[in-house]
Amino acid sequence: MTRKDDELLDFVRWVSQTDFGLPFEHAAKFNGRLRSTGGRFFPKDLHLDFNEKMYDQFSEDIFRQIVQHELVHYHLYRAGRGYKHRDQDFKKLLKEVGGLRFAPALEDSATRYLIYHCQQCGQTYPRRRKIDTKKYRCGKCGGRLQLENETNNQ
Ligand SMILES: [Zn+2]
Ligand SMILES: [Zn+2]
Repeated sequence: MTRKDDELLDFVRWVSQTDFGLPFEHAAKFNGRLRSTGGRFFPKDLHLDFNEKMYDQFSEDIFRQIVQHELVHYHLYRAGRGYKHRDQDFKKLLKEVGGLRFAPALEDSATRYLIYHCQQCGQTYPRRRKIDTKKYRCGKCGGRLQLENETNNQ
């Protein structure tokens, strides 16, 4: 397991506890072969796969909704209820937690970057995902980071 997989697992556990009030007790990992799907649920061993590109590219709010979708499959399956897309149980619970029905499209050719810069030393940090500026500081001087603008890098 890489550090990023650990980060993913922590996040899935947190969403499960926060949005479902239930623990997530199985494995979650990135699957590089997923393209337009955000994630997949495997009833065989109850693990979840997630799309790494979406994790990198989307904000935490959007990725949280992708995780919610997979957790709806997971928790309904464990409860012995209708866990497939066409099932009423699935549709109802997905709506309740506010999860996404379909994952949003990834941007391919043009990659959007968010530019953060240090308010103290001016160092810039291009990032694909939104970062929590309360938590993360400048790596050089420890100063506060500020989101500057959004640019398109063709
Ligand atoms: Zn699904
Ligand atoms: Zn700095």
